[in-house]
Amino acid sequence: MKTIHTEVAVIGAGTAGMTGYRAAKAGGKRTVLIESNVYGTTCARVGCMPSKLLISAAEAAHMLQAAPGFGVHPGQVRIDGKAVMARVRSERDRFVGFVVDSVDGYPAEDKIHGHARFLGPTRLQIDDHTVIEAERFVIATGSTPIVPDEWRAAGPRVITSDDVFYWDELPASVAVAGTGVIGLELGQALSRLGVRVTIFGRGERVAQLGDPEVLKVARKAMADALDVRFQTRVVEVAQEGEELVITSEDIAGMRRTERFSYLLSAIGRRPNVHKLGLENTGLERDHHGIPRYDKQTMQCGGSSIFIAGDADNERPQLPEAADQGRIAGDNAARFPAVQPGLRRTPLTIAFTEPQIATLGASYEELCVSHAGRFAIGKVSFENQGRSRVMLQNKGMLRVYAEFRSGRFLGAEMIGPRAEHVGHLLSWAVQAGLTVDAMLDMPFYHPVVEEGVRTALRDLAHHLANEPAHDRPCVDCTPAP
Ligand SMILES: Cc1cc2nc3c(=O)[nH]c(=O)nc-3n(C[C@H](O)[C@H](O)[C@H](O)COP(=O)(O)OP(=O)(O)OC[C@H]3O[C@@H](n4cnc5c(N)ncnc54)[C@H](O)[C@@H]3O)c2cc1C
Repeated sequence: MKTIHTEVAVIGAGTAGMTGYRAAKAGGKRTVLIESNVYGTTCARVGCMPSKLLISAAEAAHMLQAAPGFGVHPGQVRIDGKAVMARVRSERDRFVGFVVDSVDGYPAEDKIHGHARFLGPTRLQIDDHTVIEAERFVIATGSTPIVPDEWRAAGPRVITSDDVFYWDELPASVAVAGTGVIGLELGQALSRLGVRVTIFGRGERVAQLGDPEVLKVARKAMADALDVRFQTRVVEVAQEGEELVITSEDIAGMRRTERFSYLLSAIGRRPNVHKLGLENTGLERDHHGIPRYDKQTMQCGGSSIFIAGDADNERPQLPEAADQGRIAGDNAARFPAVQPGLRRTPLTIAFTEPQIATLGASYEELCVSHAGRFAIGKVSFENQGRSRVMLQNKGMLRVYAEFRSGRFLGAEMIGPRAEHVGHLLSWAVQAGLTVDAMLDMPFYHPVVEEGVRTALRDLAHHLANEPAHDRPCVDCTPAP
């Protein structure tokens, strides 16, 4: 067994690990980057990029299907599944190529291949070939899709999002378990590409939404567009020939058995912290096994171990992985003189249609932090001018602000152009704008942002009419 001495060891060469590695090197430290799998990152290989490529193909198909609504009749639409998947894979490989080129640019002696496991707070073992003695560490091990054992036992037709992007052809049918961002994005895209899709949700969750009014609108929008069955669990899965026989059970106990080509398990992702030997580090961990860490410095307790990206399960998204990796790597280099890094306003986008965006403080967070002290404004996109023009007049935006200060706090929406509205509003939160200041900004015509203005005006009205708080708020709701 070889032994290597270094100052910083970064575990995982995904987005967080790569930014962590670069930040530690920029801090002047001898740094190694350890990766157990292929280079290329989850985002580029099986995450953000291929999923958006598949969604773009689905949008092209949908535009043709929606065209008759404008009096435009495109003729018979034919979807060439092989061509769709060929483009997804070749463009994906292009993006992966850029990442691999970056890693190729790192010095060979900095890169170690194999699975890392802590032997102690300053020692790692890599497979059975190397021991690394380091002063500081960055855990950037990402996450893995969850597949229950009883589903996995049904064989290779039970798949995860990772598998979809290696298909050569579109299948006839897919059952999707999970109504989170990944389940809805992939389920809707496949459905629009002509695959028979049923999406099962144990509860009534829709992507990352938590605001009950927006959720209600979102459930309807999704159910109008897709065969999505809320409060329905997959209870049995068995392979029969080239198909899976899937039994589901709804909340009333009604069972239904159907056949699908695949079951896509999109019930969540588990941070990769369980085969890391963390029990040998002395770190305090939460009930998921994740080390407790400071969200501003990414430092685990007072130790010289830092954590970043999906591994910490805080905000499992690419921009967060990059930011957290940078902070963790920078502080690993600075240790023990760590300092807070830039954590941005939360922003999450689901590329469903209608799109879904949440930003700033969520409704559920505000019910705890600002119970009775925040006002809500809203707009429905049903009669919003530009949304109707585009035949995309579905959805709702709810915006939140603090009584007295008028400070804008956050928003949740499903609706047209949510990816852009989400950015606009998250910038306002981060800039600390008040609702009045936001209303002083320019709004062109006719644009979806006029809908945002309607919601803000409604919010301003509620802010100006703060109810008397003669009773303590007991039920965790905003003020009436
Ligand atoms: C289908 C899908 C769609 C997505 N869409 C979006 C999107 O549109 N926008 C967005 O912002 N985010 C999206 N995400 C999320 C985003 O991809 C992740 O948040 C991000 O890639 C996480 O980066 P990371 O560096 O934490 O993990 P990863 O990129 O997964 O890197 C972790 C690395 O650590 C390695 N590793 C693990 N354990 C060890 C070990 N013990 N030793 C050595 N190496 C180890 C792994 O092999 C892996 O290479 C999507 C994710 C998925 C799955």
